[in-house]
Amino acid sequence: MDWEDFRKRGADAAQWAADYHRDLRDRPVRPRSRPGDVLARLPLSPPDAAEPVDDILADLEQTILPGMTHWQHPRFFAYFPANAAPVSVLAEYYVSAIAAQCMLWQTSPAATELETRVCDWMRQAIGLPEGYSGVIQDSASTATLCAVLAMRERTLDWAGNRSGLSGQPALRIYCSAEVHTSIDRAIWISGIGEENLVRIPSGGPNRAMDVASLREAIAADRAAGLRPAGIIACVGGTSAGATDDIAAVMDVAEAEGLYTHVDAAWAGSAMICPEFQPIWAGVERADSVVLNPHKWLGAQFDCTTHYLRDPATLVRTLAIQPEYLKTHGADGIINYSEWSVPLGRRFRALKLWFLLRAHGLEGLRTMIRNHVAWTEGLAHRLAETSGFEIVTPPMLSLFTFRYVPPGCADPDALAQRLVNAINDDGRIYLTQTRVDGVLVIRFQAGAFTATAADVDTAFDVITELAADLRA
Ligand SMILES: *Cc1c(COP(=O)(O)O)cnc(C)c1O
Repeated sequence: MDWEDFRKRGADAAQWAADYHRDLRDRPVRPRSRPGDVLARLPLSPPDAAEPVDDILADLEQTILPGMTHWQHPRFFAYFPANAAPVSVLAEYYVSAIAAQCMLWQTSPAATELETRVCDWMRQAIGLPEGYSGVIQDSASTATLCAVLAMRERTLDWAGNRSGLSGQPALRIYCSAEVHTSIDRAIWISGIGEENLVRIPSGGPNRAMDVASLREAIAADRAAGLRPAGIIACVGGTSAGATDDIAAVMDVAEAEGLYTHVDAAWAGSAMICPEFQPIWAGVERADSVVLNPHKWLGAQFDCTTHYLRDPATLVRTLAIQPEYLKTHGADGIINYSEWSVPLGRRFRALKLWFLLRAHGLEGLRTMIRNHVAWTEGLAHRLAETSGFEIVTPPMLSLFTFRYVPPGCADPDALAQRLVNAINDDGRIYLTQTRVDGVLVIRFQAGAFTATAADVDTAFDVITELAADLRA
């Protein structure tokens, strides 16, 4: 295939994409595929001879699509959304066509400068004060790894990069028990070690880290000769939306001189609505803040905005040529690859630019407010329905519930059976989680194209299938 063939194929792909999205409501959200089904249909060896593109496209329809989970389905209520607004898909089309490597300013000046500008637009939109610098990382996991590496090197005065960690006192990092597994991985990869990730008990209506216990843990570690290095706080935990009291955490961090990272990967998108910003009050004092416009906001994966109060700490940790620090940003040149682990970088800023311009903040706020309101409505309706119990109330557009009809002997088993029945049915898709050891069903509304009627369908499916289980 050459670029002349691409003219037609590319136009066909646009038609296909529009049809796919138009008909998505008629497909089951989750495939009926069983393990190995797709693999069994794929040839064991690669082709020696070129194959017609028509054959490849036919196999896309017949072999691949039946095995796809439709993340853009309007009734995708599982995990968190991974929204790809049409305009961000369009931006990615241009990005793929240009296919630039955007690691240094000079390897694509416009990509770097657009990244600086759209990160600052997002900074303003979410209410972070001036003085934060943003970078687009590939994932929140990477941003958290960067923050943990910065904690490590700042605490060790950059001796870790030079001499390794052996011979150093154990570094200690604090978080609640509600944080995402990407924090564990960052701790492993950074060489800090799981045993040095101190899990502070959490509680209260927001399942927030207990700040008195945090203070005690830090004091005990110092007394034992260990080196506290940082605190990772969470806003909108993945399981049930746990949210730390950021201002109280910052009080401790500032008193102790600890680096802070706030993981708001999902909930951060909602902060474009001023009425939700009190949820993370105090964030304006954090060293590092991460949110994923590739989750709720509609910028196609991958698009993680990572804000740093002092990027020099991170750049000193990750840049191979630290002399560049001397003119850090001052000459207008930023080399974003020095703010992240990989060297190569995609042109991620374009989709965020397209998205923010084509929808405007007000359009995106309306979407988020609708999701939050519909979720609250659904939680309310379920709470009023006999046998249903709300386990964690809505945090933005996420809540958990279970089904405990009178005489139910094993609520965990029933929750699992209900989730399985719902997902086999195919009209909606949601997942389960554990809250305080109890198996619960998790619901979040966040699909870019979801409507109030889709959330009503969720109510119908959940209550109908629950009644069937009892029958
Ligand atoms: C989704 C999520 C992550 C991981 O995000 P990636 O971009 O997939 O790495 C981390 N933390 C929280 C709270 C999340 O919801």
